[in-house]
Amino acid sequence: MSGHCIFCKIIGREIPANIVYEDDLVLAFNDIHPAAPVHVLIIPKEHVETVEDVPAGDHIVAFLAERAVAIAKQLNLREGFRLVINNGDNGGQTVFHLHMHLLGGRFMTWPPG
Ligand code: 5GP
Ligand code: ZN
Repeated sequence: MSGHCIFCKIIGREIPANIVYEDDLVLAFNDIHPAAPVHVLIIPKEHVETVEDVPAGDHIVAFLAERAVAIAKQLNLREGFRLVINNGDNGGQTVFHLHMHLLGGRFMTWPPG
């Protein structure tokens, strides 16, 4: 738990979120400003700032992806979806608690803006 982190506050139920999945390691909730019809954030319960801060040999990123795929299946995203991790300022990261975006429900254009 990191005191000023908005995602840690969501984990601690200090601020509300529309939670779609939870287990011992991971919490998933709807993005407050959805960029697609489905926009879920999947986060580790342990506060890690960026994907670069994940220690070698730690499998949390694989676990985020595994849960994202299961959530996509539950939400019937049969025609595809996108998983994104923004990293650092140039990567467009605005919340410095590691998170994976699950985006779907429309055609996702490439390259991103
Ligand atoms: P980033 O740009 O860091 O990859 O993504 C952060 C995401 O968190 C953004 O898509 C933003 O809309 C979302 N977000 C920021 N604050 C909150 C919040 O308080 N609640 C929820 N549900 N999402 C948030
Ligand atoms: Zn945090």
